[in-house]
Amino acid sequence: MNCYLCFSPIVPEVNWTNFLLPVIEKKICRTCEEELEELPAERCPMCSRPGEGLCGDCARWEETLPGVLDQNDSVFTYNAFAKELVAKWKYRGDYVALEALETFIKEKWNVLNRDDYLTVCVPLSSERERERGFNQSEKIIEMVGKEPAYLFKRIHGEKQSKRNRRARLEAENPFSVVKLVDQPVIIVDDIYTTGRTIRHMASLLKENGCPEVRSFTIFR
Ligand SMILES: [Zn+2]
Ligand SMILES: [Zn+2]
Repeated sequence: MNCYLCFSPIVPEVNWTNFLLPVIEKKICRTCEEELEELPAERCPMCSRPGEGLCGDCARWEETLPGVLDQNDSVFTYNAFAKELVAKWKYRGDYVALEALETFIKEKWNVLNRDDYLTVCVPLSSERERERGFNQSEKIIEMVGKEPAYLFKRIHGEKQSKRNRRARLEAENPFSVVKLVDQPVIIVDDIYTTGRTIRHMASLLKENGCPEVRSFTIFR
C-alpha cells in the first residue's frame, strides 16, 4: 500500500498494544500525516479560526449578517500543506487527494456526533462541477455515511465573484433556496475561508425558519 499523497510505501505499525485490534487502513504515510495540523484549543468560538476570541471575520459578518451561523467545526488548520492539497482537488480534479483524508474526516465527525443533523450540500456551478468531475461537499457527506440534502442552487458562477471581491463578498448572495427545512442543519464543505459561502447559505436557511445552522469543513 502506498501513500495517497506522496506515493511512498506505507509500513503498517504493529506493536504490543495494537496487534489484536482491527487494522485501520491508513491512506497516507506518517510524513504526510505530520504535515496535517490539528486546530489549536485556542480558536474563534464561532468559526474555529486559530487565535484568541471572536475573530475579525466573524465580527464583520456579525454586522452584515448577524446570528446566521451557530458554529463551524473543522478538522485541520489551513496551512501550506493543506493549500497544496486543496489545490489538487479544486483545480486538478484529483479525487484521490480528498479520499486520502477520509479516516481523519470520519474520526472528527464521530467525535462531534452530528448524525442527527441534516447534512446540506454546497452546490457548485455546473461549469465548475464539469471541470472538477465531482462535488467535494457531496463526497465528504458520503464519507461520513450521510445523505446529501440539496437545498440550494447557485445564481452566479464562482468566477464572477472575483470582481470587486470585498463588496460582493458581503452584499450579494450567490445562492437561492430550492427546498425549505425546519430542522437543524449542518453545511458540509472542504474549506471555510472567508465564510462567504457558508454565511450566505446560513442566512437563507435562518430567514426561512431553520432553527440551527452549523457547518463542518476539513480545513479552517
Ligand atoms: Zn505520504
Ligand atoms: Zn471566527
